[in-house]
Amino acid sequence: MTVVTPDLLRRFDVPGPRYTSYPTADRFVEAFGEQEYVLALQQRKIGSVGKATPLSLYVHIPFCESLCYYCACNKIITRHPERAEVYLRYLSREIDLHTAHCGIGQQVSQLHLGGGTPTFLSDAGLRDLMAMIKRSFTLVPGGEYSIEIDPRTVDEQRLALLAELGFNRLSFGVQDFDPEVQKAVHRIQPAEKVFALVDSARRLGFESVNVDLIYGLPRQTPESFDRTLAQVAELRPDRIALYAYAHLPERFKPQRRIVTAELPQASAKVAMLARALEVFADSGYTYIGMDHFALPDDALAVAKRQGRLHRNFQGYSTQPDCDLIGLGVSAIGRIGATYSQNVKTLDEYYDAINQGNLPVVRGLALTRDDLVRRAVIMALMCQGELLYQPMEESWLIDFRQHFSAELQELQTLEQQGLVALSDEGITVTPMGWYFVRAVAMVFDRYLQANRNRARFSRII
Ligand code: SF4
Repeated sequence: MTVVTPDLLRRFDVPGPRYTSYPTADRFVEAFGEQEYVLALQQRKIGSVGKATPLSLYVHIPFCESLCYYCACNKIITRHPERAEVYLRYLSREIDLHTAHCGIGQQVSQLHLGGGTPTFLSDAGLRDLMAMIKRSFTLVPGGEYSIEIDPRTVDEQRLALLAELGFNRLSFGVQDFDPEVQKAVHRIQPAEKVFALVDSARRLGFESVNVDLIYGLPRQTPESFDRTLAQVAELRPDRIALYAYAHLPERFKPQRRIVTAELPQASAKVAMLARALEVFADSGYTYIGMDHFALPDDALAVAKRQGRLHRNFQGYSTQPDCDLIGLGVSAIGRIGATYSQNVKTLDEYYDAINQGNLPVVRGLALTRDDLVRRAVIMALMCQGELLYQPMEESWLIDFRQHFSAELQELQTLEQQGLVALSDEGITVTPMGWYFVRAVAMVFDRYLQANRNRARFSRII
């Protein structure tokens, strides 16, 4: 078993992107707008005739009832539920604008509701949203239908409604069970409540329950986090996502309410991460890669063993890469060889739709170089292996010549034990999986060109 020591964590703590896309979203440009997006949608329609490639849908619900001080999401804090009713009416119109270009009844094999707080929506709102999605798209059996849950906004009855509406995966935002930490970040949710909800989710037959945790929060200590880790091990969710808190108060206003003196030191953060890796391994979790863990019989762990992992804007997935339509403010989409992102504010969003326009504000048409590098980065991050020959056949390149500078750079990582290089290709070692983004970064042309790496969250 690979033991990741605090020393190793310290050594490979390089700031870097999470590669939920390549190129990363900070490379999107305003030269790509609604017109370019519509063209991509229309090309998809032509290209998919008779092939029926299933779609992925992401819906952003931006509202939250109360502010968590660590928040870096695009959200609106409000106590007025009627604001969501207006928003849903616009979402419905945005869906219509899409189907006008790509046709009604397209198959969907992945749906994710994120936010904000999707469960800010009332029961009637959730029903309306799912009805409008099902009116315009066909959710195929066996798909992944997931929703982010703020435990403070649901009970067993609401979870039953989500099951009835077709959701089969839940993701609970836990962050930390310690009451002192919860107070410091202004998110009070007793552990008993989360335990009861996860119990209910199991009774209701949800296929997979994920728990999100954050380390590096104010008032967290290695000892307090150890208690949280023990509780999570007892809760035994199917999946765990463990994120590092990045304190960037100049960029994210809510974080200004966090008392800097209460933040743990870097050495304490390293100790927390090292301990989490140990506890989850001891509890039988498989390390999927990039902050994700899953029980061995969870679909994600099975997919990892079988080399069938994929990566999209929600992180790792078992579903093959497919086109993604993003709905709602700030949502990101991926159609063909393009990425696109919606406007961020409600006013801009409502304005665009009132004018009959899709609210796309920026995006990117990928170049051939972007596509080759995306294939390389995704192979390394998902399969942990890249074979030269199939890559050369698919992209008509001489890999070793095309990426000679990168392969030279990789030699340092080979000496450090993160990758193994052979005549056939590149393999990420068991140790390298823990630092796979450092391996991927070698192939990121934009990072090579002009670097401001400090903008990205650090691995630790
Ligand atoms: S962390 Fe989530 S629930 Fe909290 S304010 Fe941000 S989006 Fe809302």
